[in-house]
Amino acid sequence: MNSFTYSQHRARVIFGDGSRTRVVDELNLLRADRVMLIATGSAGAVADELAAALGRNVVLRWDEVAQHVPLDLAERAREAAAEAFVDAIVCVGGGSAVGLAKAVALTARRPIVAIPTTYAGSEQTTIYAVTSEQHKQTGNSISVLPRSVIYDPELTLDMPAGITGPSAFNALAHAVEALYAPGNTPVTTVYALQGARAIHRSLARVVAAPRDLEARGELLYGAYLCGVALGATGAGLHHKICHVLGGTFDLVHADAHSVILPHSVAFNAPVLPDEMAELSDVLGGADPAAALWDLAVAAQVPTTLAALGLVAADLPAAAERIEAEVAKIPAPGNPRPCTADDVLALLQRAYAGARPTVDAVVR
Ligand code: NAD
Repeated sequence: MNSFTYSQHRARVIFGDGSRTRVVDELNLLRADRVMLIATGSAGAVADELAAALGRNVVLRWDEVAQHVPLDLAERAREAAAEAFVDAIVCVGGGSAVGLAKAVALTARRPIVAIPTTYAGSEQTTIYAVTSEQHKQTGNSISVLPRSVIYDPELTLDMPAGITGPSAFNALAHAVEALYAPGNTPVTTVYALQGARAIHRSLARVVAAPRDLEARGELLYGAYLCGVALGATGAGLHHKICHVLGGTFDLVHADAHSVILPHSVAFNAPVLPDEMAELSDVLGGADPAAALWDLAVAAQVPTTLAALGLVAADLPAAAERIEAEVAKIPAPGNPRPCTADDVLALLQRAYAGARPTVDAVVR
């Protein structure tokens, strides 16, 4: 066994059907009685329910949320939180609601209770992001890690197929990159593989029967494990590509993950024989890139960058920007060195949307 260092974050997790009502207990533990309640539009009814349960303790409701946290939105939310003297933030929604809560927590230094309703995993990481002038700036701070996370599968029952599949792929991408990203340890590998296994097992069931509560629960559980894996490791080439496609070219975050993941795996797999063997075992196919692509098709997620609205003429500029982002990955960096030309070739394959195989990419 090689030696390793693993830091365990201390967030509490409450998991279970109907567990959203536990938000009252979690705020009591924090001794919070001036709450900012952030909710995405789709979570409006849940937010009403939580606001009724919390009564006068909700001093500020905030319903405006956007992907990649535009700086102007973050600043307005921070100002409102300061004016209302909030002492805790509750967020209910996907990664965008959690992202806005993190942006407020970063400056207000107030604890977050997160109730995630997608599979994005942000609630388990110390990573925050704010976007201005088409540039998504990320940072890392323990102050943005939610103190409590409440996973209630009931809140995911009405998630449409167009959000479910891509969001599950977002979670899978965390698991895949946690297998080799800087910070990987045997412990993070356990989270990553178990998370990917739970997602692989449940996603097709959820696609076939979206209101199957048990399958939804397993999918959310898998996403939780994948979020922990991401939170304890970092980003590789795959996350850097999606970061640029979202922040600079405004692609929907989860959709970009769905399209890119099979192609980024095909690129990195040749130098990761052990990790890819473990991933293949979970995905049930000899070629992990092809297996992911097949799962994407089965889950009805987008499989071409063209379908996401990216124009071919933007690919070279995207590749240059991604190369610069990949250079910022801490040592040992992405497992397979890549130039802007490599990234461009990967983007072109993803743009065309052909089924990738590891062999086809090895040169
Ligand atoms: P999102 O939060 O924007 O949600 C996508 C859409 O789904 C929205 O319209 C939302 O209202 C709707 N929705 C959410 N939950 C629903 C439900 N249960 N039922 C029906 N509709 C629902 O998208 P996302 O993919 O969850 O999050 C993306 C954002 O999260 C990006 O900005 C990304 O950068 C960020 N993110 C951050 C981290 C991190 O560690 N900091 C990790 C992952 C994602």
